Amino acid sequence: MYNSRLETMPLEELRALQNARLSSLVKRVYENVPFYKQQFDVIGLHPEDIKTLEDIHKLPFTKKTDLRDNYPFGMFAKPMDEIRRIHASSGTTGKPTVVGYTEADLGVFDEVVARSLACAGARPGMKLHNAYGYGLFTGGLGMHGGATKLGMAVIPVSGGMTERQLTILQDFEPEVICCTPSYAQTLADELEKRGIDTDSLAVKYAVLGAEPWTEAIRSQVERGLGVRASNIYGLSEVIGPGVSQEDFEEQGSGSYIWEDHFFPEVVDRDSGEPLPYGEEGVLVFTTLTKEAFPVLRYWTNDICSINYDPNGKRTHIKMSTIKGRADDMLIIRGVNLFHTQVEEVIHMFDYLSPNYRLLVDKKGAMDKVTVEVETVANVEPENEDLRGRLKKKVKDFIGLSMEIVLKSPGSIPRSQGGKLSRIVDRRVKSV
Ligand code: ADP
Repeated sequence: MYNSRLETMPLEELRALQNARLSSLVKRVYENVPFYKQQFDVIGLHPEDIKTLEDIHKLPFTKKTDLRDNYPFGMFAKPMDEIRRIHASSGTTGKPTVVGYTEADLGVFDEVVARSLACAGARPGMKLHNAYGYGLFTGGLGMHGGATKLGMAVIPVSGGMTERQLTILQDFEPEVICCTPSYAQTLADELEKRGIDTDSLAVKYAVLGAEPWTEAIRSQVERGLGVRASNIYGLSEVIGPGVSQEDFEEQGSGSYIWEDHFFPEVVDRDSGEPLPYGEEGVLVFTTLTKEAFPVLRYWTNDICSINYDPNGKRTHIKMSTIKGRADDMLIIRGVNLFHTQVEEVIHMFDYLSPNYRLLVDKKGAMDKVTVEVETVANVEPENEDLRGRLKKKVKDFIGLSMEIVLKSPGSIPRSQGGKLSRIVDRRVKSV
């Protein structure tokens, strides 16, 4: 454990720390960010009204549109001469949002990523193959800083140029790799194509995040790279990667949210009402310690649940796997659909690999989904029995009838280094 005092802090102490941090945060944003002052004034809220976490629901949500309206630096709570770095979100869902960090913020970033890497199996003295993109995206530099803080040797490979990634994996012998899960799939595929035995590689741990993924991809990547794979979650508006991390020895039980810095809530996506632990809704974060770019109740749009794990090594709350972003959810003939649900069904079939995509079309007044999925090596895609069984399972588990097209291995587009979009929505064009 990187910081056992903080990671195993008794809940009562953690709450006291969070309460103190929350009330000072609220004062800071009220005094320094005109957007927040105006929001408070409109509803007649005073910073003194927020004394503990019990009062947090009185605060309005902050949404991505608020950040865009204040583009680029309007949400900063510190003058530019105290800002040491500027990043932007990947812009997956539109105009990117711009975030800033003071020196202290970069220290927090390093700390939470160091904790995350240790939680994923990394140790001082190991080498990190960092295949997250460097640049405005927080992934590359974020992982870099945390790994340095942990005492690792960072190999700043960045995303893409797969041939070079393979050479580095073989020659530099990193024990840990971090990248998007879809790019880990690409690397696993390429190793297999070249007949490179994973026993010849030093890599043992993979830290995967920046996009939704399920156990289907975990199995494929663990086998294909010869690693233990764990989930890292984050978003630039909160800090970047390292908001939460799954322990490699507690796989499948959720990812610890470093809640001494990032206070989570899960709320109903329609009413915004807080939901009890264990119920699925929109994840919302309040950054308790950020100086340059603090956010109050930031609406991530990511769908998951949170809960404490009495069997976990740490005391911090865990979040479940992200099902998807609320705005990526398809509504097909009245049924809500995330692509991760299809991924889970694919995982039930040994002869299918989690290389898939969903094509969405409009046929007359009806929306139609086609699942294109690859078979594993040596299994012919012309397999009516397999196709029929998948179609039935999809219908049974998701409640929707979908067209199934089995494809040969390697025929569905792969991640070239970053996030992979698994939904091709052709409805606008085909209307
Ligand atoms: P953008 O929102 O433009 O993609 P970011 O690069 O900051 O910008 O990405 C943050 C988003 O990526 C999160 O809000 C979430 O939707 C997704 N994400 C990050 N990590 C994970 C993860 N481990 N699992 C699922 N989704 C993730």
